[in-house]
Amino acid sequence: MDNYIVSARKYRPQTFESVVGQHALTQTLKNAIASGKLAHAYLFCGPRGVGKTTCARIFAKTINCFNLSADGEACNECESCKAFNENRSMNIFELDAASNNSINDIRSIVERVNIPPQIGRYKVFIIDEVHMLSQAAFNAFLKTLEEPPAHVIFIMATTEKHKVIPTILSRCQIYDFQRMDLGDIIGHLRYVAKQEDIEAEDAALHLIAQKADGGMRDALSIFDQVCNYSQGKVTYNTVIEDLNILDYEYYFKATDDFLRIDYKSALLTLNEILNKGFDAQQYIGGLASHFRNLLVARDKETLPLLEVSDDVRNRYHEQANRCNPRFLYKAIKICSDCDAQYRTSRNKRLTVELALIELAQIEQADADPSSGLGPTRRLKPLAKTATQKAQATPSPSPKSEPASKASAPDAPKPKPVAPQPSRPGTISRSISLKGNRPGNSASDASLSTTGSSQPTPAPDDSPFTEEEMRSQWVNYYLNLPQEESALQGRMKIIQPTLVGTEEVLVKVSNEWVLNDFNRIKPEIEQYFHKNLNNSKIRLRIEQVEHDASTRPITRAEVFDAIKKEYPAVRDFCNSLELKLY
Ligand SMILES: [Zn+2]
Repeated sequence: MDNYIVSARKYRPQTFESVVGQHALTQTLKNAIASGKLAHAYLFCGPRGVGKTTCARIFAKTINCFNLSADGEACNECESCKAFNENRSMNIFELDAASNNSINDIRSIVERVNIPPQIGRYKVFIIDEVHMLSQAAFNAFLKTLEEPPAHVIFIMATTEKHKVIPTILSRCQIYDFQRMDLGDIIGHLRYVAKQEDIEAEDAALHLIAQKADGGMRDALSIFDQVCNYSQGKVTYNTVIEDLNILDYEYYFKATDDFLRIDYKSALLTLNEILNKGFDAQQYIGGLASHFRNLLVARDKETLPLLEVSDDVRNRYHEQANRCNPRFLYKAIKICSDCDAQYRTSRNKRLTVELALIELAQIEQADADPSSGLGPTRRLKPLAKTATQKAQATPSPSPKSEPASKASAPDAPKPKPVAPQPSRPGTISRSISLKGNRPGNSASDASLSTTGSSQPTPAPDDSPFTEEEMRSQWVNYYLNLPQEESALQGRMKIIQPTLVGTEEVLVKVSNEWVLNDFNRIKPEIEQYFHKNLNNSKIRLRIEQVEHDASTRPITRAEVFDAIKKEYPAVRDFCNSLELKLY
């Protein structure tokens, strides 16, 4: 370990040619040197670790080289090149403005500017993170930058171009360094691994490159770290362990769970991830990226946008073909909503779990024809999901049998207002009235809506639309017995709405009507269960405030309106002191 040199330094490029991932830019610099058209100030912009300082050093070395090669590279053999390579050249001066940003630091540069180089032709001043210079330092520097001696070249580098003041920008030739291509980084890592005699899996190098986010210096640092950790053999598993990266296998698996509407497996996976010490938010963020990747992978044309190794890309393509775009859009939306809520959430784990359950419901909701009609969708009861698929095909409901038995003439009839079995759709109001019914035979029990422990097989919970529900609402009141004409009249003017998939909202205008509806609520529910073939339908009766635009107007108001419109009536009433009673 005595002569251990970090890879980022050991494999720092010495020529323009060996700079990774910036070919267009290095070629332009080479051309400028070859044609002798050098500016006196350059600004290198771009993210960290993409080669700005490296290029600045190579540039400084190349313009001072005594025997440039035919393709415009430094020879690395002349006295000047050797001095540069051994870090003892007097022609290069570096200032890191991030830590030396005072006016005195700049003055030390300005003082050196006027001393010509002893060997070579140019003195190069590299100012890194130039946007960090203080205002006073900037001002002190401007004058020198405006009229430097012919032997001076400034190269300024910054990660934040927008923070560099315009007066400096306008005096520089600007080069924008791009974030490095994943493939370039991987290629270079592979090269380094080979040089160091280290065995490295491609998938592992991919992960490292991804983690480095387009920066070669970071990629090499991570590579060093992983090499130390894994002792010579860099595998995918050692990298995810060492870097604490969430394995993409989790995302593939979770997506399969969501497609299968298997929320249980999704929750167990979350538990496993949390047990491994990962952050739930990190998982949700990763899921969002995974869905984005699937969206990209759906199309052959956008498939190359996926920066992963070939076999993983094929897996994305395969899974993407099983997801419809609607699922992916919704999934991304759910993840980003969850991510936004996460910070303020009191129960963070629950927030994420709910999101996972919601994700596992997307496919189910899509199979539901009523989806999209209701305002906001509600989650379906979880217990249903497992058997959902098995119940897809409707079969003759066993419930219809006891129903007809109950209404048959031999069934116990408490009231003379007996249902008419001959008339389909007729409401047999007496049947479900609790306590009204003597005896509790098996067939009766199956009808009771309030009984909670009934072993009756549930009817097929088939989806229905708001329109279908409203038409059943109309059927119900049309078939009410005559003595219920008041209720019929009230039901006529109410337009029930479907909330989510199974809740019917009935808005009433006063407490009295509310009580009236609560009284018959179980019956209407039961009627819906039967005629819409869905046992999960619930009725919610809500009392709402008077809506000024729809409430009925009183006689007094009518009278006032008449008086307002016909002043003669008003005068007449006033003169005789008439009042409305
Ligand atoms: Zn040379």
